[in-house]
Amino acid sequence: MSSDTEAATSSTEMIAETSDNTEKMDEIDEPETKRRKLTKNNEMDEKKNRLEDRLGGILCCAVCLDLPKAAVYQCNNGHLMCAGCFTHLLADARLRDETATCPNCRVEISKTAATRNLAVENAVSELPSECQYCGKEFPRNTLERHEDQMCEERISGCKYSRIGCPWRGPMHESKQHEQDCPHPRRTGAEVMEALQVIDQRVAEERKLYENIFELLGYEKITMNDLQLKPYRTEEFVHRLYYETSRFSAFNNQWVVKARINNSQKDPTQSSERDMTYQLILKTRTSCPLNIHFVILHGPFGDMKILPRIYRFDFTEDENESPYVALSLPDTAECNRLLAAKTINFRFIMFLA
Ligand SMILES: [Zn+2]
Ligand SMILES: [Zn+2]
Ligand SMILES: [Zn+2]
Ligand SMILES: [Zn+2]
Repeated sequence: MSSDTEAATSSTEMIAETSDNTEKMDEIDEPETKRRKLTKNNEMDEKKNRLEDRLGGILCCAVCLDLPKAAVYQCNNGHLMCAGCFTHLLADARLRDETATCPNCRVEISKTAATRNLAVENAVSELPSECQYCGKEFPRNTLERHEDQMCEERISGCKYSRIGCPWRGPMHESKQHEQDCPHPRRTGAEVMEALQVIDQRVAEERKLYENIFELLGYEKITMNDLQLKPYRTEEFVHRLYYETSRFSAFNNQWVVKARINNSQKDPTQSSERDMTYQLILKTRTSCPLNIHFVILHGPFGDMKILPRIYRFDFTEDENESPYVALSLPDTAECNRLLAAKTINFRFIMFLA
């Protein structure tokens, strides 16, 4: 304690030697002012935090308790739900064959019996949020841009990744790494190895396109804009499935059937969801039909589907293709389709 005081006194004296009286006064005065300022800042911070916390608690989703990132929905009594939880509730209700209800007050919710709340969406976008890389706070509405494009701590790759450099690290280190990166000085033979992996990927992609162009050259192609509607199986535990009405192609009648998680007993227990579908020939055929088929979202649908071509040979005895993946990008997209009343898509068939 005493040595501290001495040190402080001597430093004040040292300054006093080189400065006039007013400055000396300031110097002596500073610690107290600083302290006062700090306490004031702390108080303000606490107040701000408390207000933010309180607002966060009020504006958060009633289901997942997170602050919504996009659209906010509310039930007729005003309980808030983020878009993800809202579609999840609707999807679960569809799977259970129940009407969806607000988890807070049990009032019915649906696409029409719930509204967006723009005021909450805007208020949430103004609340500060922490960058996942650098930990600094930004208004929620600018955070995405900061994390994607601005943050110096965001993870980036080396510009020589195409010739095999596996380096991943914070953005601000990438310049230095690229200067020291050994890959540009590697031999042609070593670079070739890395290029072969890329070549293979490109070749696979090209195969898909070549396949499509070959199919487009077929004599018989049909295109139907169809609608999958939800139904329940007749079993004791009803299961949800989807089916289109009959449609004609190549002088025959067909339907498309779809199911969730390959007819898992209770898909509401699973957090991962996907859909598979099959093509069924409804009429008898005397000659085998070699069919390629593909689902696209089409002009009336909005599903985010990655087009995939499948092939099945329909015969007199084999009139149902196996279930094949609908290739949706994720569970959220599957829930979105379940939450909707019907699923619209375009179905293209090629007959060899
Ligand atoms: Zn939520
Ligand atoms: Zn409610
Ligand atoms: Zn950041
Ligand atoms: Zn590198």
